[in-house]
Amino acid sequence: MALPPAEARVALVTGSTTGIGRSVAATLAATGHTVVLHGRDEERAAKAAAEVAAETGGPADSVHGDVADPGLVSAMMRQIYQRHGRLDALVVNAGIHSAGLLGMVGPDTIGRLFEVNAVGATHTLQAALRLLRRGAGPAVVLISSIMGRAGHPGQAVYSATKAAVIGLTLAAAKELGPSGIRVNAVAPGYIRTDMLSTLDDRARAATVAATPLGRLGEPGEVARAVAFLLSSEACFITGQVLGVDGGLVL
Ligand code: NAD
Repeated sequence: MALPPAEARVALVTGSTTGIGRSVAATLAATGHTVVLHGRDEERAAKAAAEVAAETGGPADSVHGDVADPGLVSAMMRQIYQRHGRLDALVVNAGIHSAGLLGMVGPDTIGRLFEVNAVGATHTLQAALRLLRRGAGPAVVLISSIMGRAGHPGQAVYSATKAAVIGLTLAAAKELGPSGIRVNAVAPGYIRTDMLSTLDDRARAATVAATPLGRLGEPGEVARAVAFLLSSEACFITGQVLGVDGGLVL
């Protein structure tokens, strides 16, 4: 199916002031998309959008709000409707991480991890549907994690939230396919962002040793996989979970 040229496509990337989301936004802007960046804080989101526009020469806009708050997520989508009229691409990336053995992790941490990673992803996809239905060749990529497929000691709650993202992806792909909306997930391994700052040297070395490709991943490597799944090159691909993990899941 022929899609409109990238410069005519509007993309929203949640959690794009930093890390993987920021890299996805820059990658899409560099290929001519009109990118809407997103962060919890208005000023930080606007600053990130200005920086991506300056770096790539592509148009970049911003919206803000906590994805765990359905009212704020709906307000974001209304703003996008008013400014752009539709969405052709959605990247559900905003997320938080917290590690802790099952016997140690408290109810507040459990609640917040689910609220942001699982419930927030669901609000975001749900609230974007009307805009996506107005898009051309619309496609969604949700950012899960290797933890949602393989798990790891000390990661049970985070893993459960990321497994929920995979369940959402699979069911949404079946439900939305007949409307022409593709839905896929990317499951990164260990990627060098702020989220990895809690990994001590020993854990870092063990991860690298267990990874067939022998290193940590870079945000740009995830971004290029996301851009592929959003592109017309992937027009017959839906309901897939693409690992970007150097083979660590094997
Ligand atoms: P990051 O901390 O740099 O990015 C997370 C982004 O989400 C931030 O910009 C943050 O502001 C935003 N965010 C967090 N909570 C939010 C909320 N309630 N409302 C709105 N925005 C919120 O880390 P990252 O590594 O770039 O993570 C991006 C995604 O990739 C996350 O979903 C994460 O779980 C996933 N992931 C990361 C790794 C890794 O190794 N870095 C591995 C697997 C999956």
